[in-house]
Amino acid sequence: MSTEFDVVVIGAGPAGYHAAIRAAQLGLKTACIDAALGKDGKPALGGTCLRVGCIPSKALLDSSRQYWNMQHLFGEHGITADNAKINVETMVGRKDKIVKQFTGGIAALFKANKITAYYGFGQLQPGKSVLVKQHDGSEVVLTGKHIVIAAGSDSIELPFARFDGKRIVDNVGALDFTQVPKRLGVIGAGVIGLELGSVWKRLGSEVTILEALPEFLGAADAEAARVALKEFKKQGLDIKLGAKVSKAEIVKDEVHLTYNDGTADHSLVVDNLLVAVGRKAASTNLLAEGTGVKINARGQIEVDDHCHTGVDGIWAVGDCVRGPMLAHKGFEEGIAVAERIAGLPGHVNLDTVPWVIYTEPEIAWVGKTEQQLKAEDIPYKTGSFPFAAVGRAVAMGEPAGFVKVIAHAETDRVLGMHLVGVGVSELVHEGVLTMEFHGSAEDLARICHAHPTLSEAIHDAAMAVDKRAIHKAN
Ligand code: FAD
Ligand code: AMP
Repeated sequence: MSTEFDVVVIGAGPAGYHAAIRAAQLGLKTACIDAALGKDGKPALGGTCLRVGCIPSKALLDSSRQYWNMQHLFGEHGITADNAKINVETMVGRKDKIVKQFTGGIAALFKANKITAYYGFGQLQPGKSVLVKQHDGSEVVLTGKHIVIAAGSDSIELPFARFDGKRIVDNVGALDFTQVPKRLGVIGAGVIGLELGSVWKRLGSEVTILEALPEFLGAADAEAARVALKEFKKQGLDIKLGAKVSKAEIVKDEVHLTYNDGTADHSLVVDNLLVAVGRKAASTNLLAEGTGVKINARGQIEVDDHCHTGVDGIWAVGDCVRGPMLAHKGFEEGIAVAERIAGLPGHVNLDTVPWVIYTEPEIAWVGKTEQQLKAEDIPYKTGSFPFAAVGRAVAMGEPAGFVKVIAHAETDRVLGMHLVGVGVSELVHEGVLTMEFHGSAEDLARICHAHPTLSEAIHDAAMAVDKRAIHKAN
């Protein structure tokens, strides 16, 4: 079999499989290499996202949400369900089935698009070739007119809290607990810590989240973060801010933690510890000597605005390069690079990449926060609207949260949208569309929104920018 390709992609996660499929659609002879194995020990395409990230976490979030609602929401509808029980094995089995369906789906898409998959570890060589150490022990060298590096990211491990896969875990272990931990400690109140902490909290764990920074969700709009934090506290999530963990010791069946809150050392004993302190680019051993591709101090592959490394024919996309570590950011970069390789004008606007945290309530945003606009001295105005005044949200028993639209004070152009509440992972795309089309708050306000829907919160928030919201005092 020929090992010469137009495009060789290293990594079949969201960024890599999008690059490979789009390249193949454009008539380019494409290969894609991936080293990952699934829980059954067999190759599994789809990367972190499909195996141990976006999809399995959402499967568990949905299972645990049903259980939580049964105990906390059903009552007000007049529905009683005594003796609710959760079978963790069934819940995790359901998650595994979904993962298998989707990782298998990528293999089927590769076949349909005539993409050659190689299963093993790929290392870029000087010139445009990749040495693949395959799982069967054999080696193969692939050459490509273009190479796309889409190696993704790995969990950051703390030197004092090494993963043992059982007591001290990262996302991989926390998606596969065999029983509900009585006490779960989480280091890091970022997206992964909050989502997986929520899963086990809803199933009955006592969850303590320790976050070194004094502010909650610094990347989100401060008002949205405040509203969300209040809701999480109501649910019983114990989030300690300004709490820097310095020690984690496994003692028999427990993990003993030491953290400092700025004044003194404190201890915390838990049954399991999830370390969720961020992810780092997976660039170890990825490049042989002399490729010319540069890696920065954070381990990321250096690229320009078009994901080109500066070395002829070598591109890099997704979590292993700068920008938000989000699957959909990788999707768009993968497509854009394939299109540029084919001579088309691919581009990704990082300013309109939406962020979503799939907690309850969900948190979502696009564009600038108020604190960013203040720091950049950009004049702005805001309009907000609470879900507590949206008929559909109240009918659903989900009144928490709000929508805030931020527009330029002079031009009215939408600069950001920040949402906390039920279903905002879907609603945020009204903000993305408006910003992509350079729309104004008035545009949003004049667009007819169906009644009764959750999207009416956006409509009223946009009208509130001009102090003419109908369903609240302005
Ligand atoms: P990856 O998905 O990491 O894929 C890279 C692939 O390349 C892997 O399969 C890896 O094995 C392979 N690989 C690496 N190096 C080599 C090599 N040298 N040779 C061969 N193969 C190699 N993002 C969202 O947008 N929404 C979410 O809801 C979300 N939830 C998440 C939940 C969790 C628990 C986690 C951990 C992450 C979540 N993310 C989410 C982030 C998302 O998973 C990543 O942003 C996304 O997977 C990055 O895609 P990627 O293609 O760049 O890399
Ligand atoms: P994210 O990068 O969004 O996944 O968030 C990871 C979080 O972990 C960040 O908010 C960090 O401040 C936090 N963090 C990192 N190291 C520690 C530590 N030793 N103790 C507590 N929190 C930490």
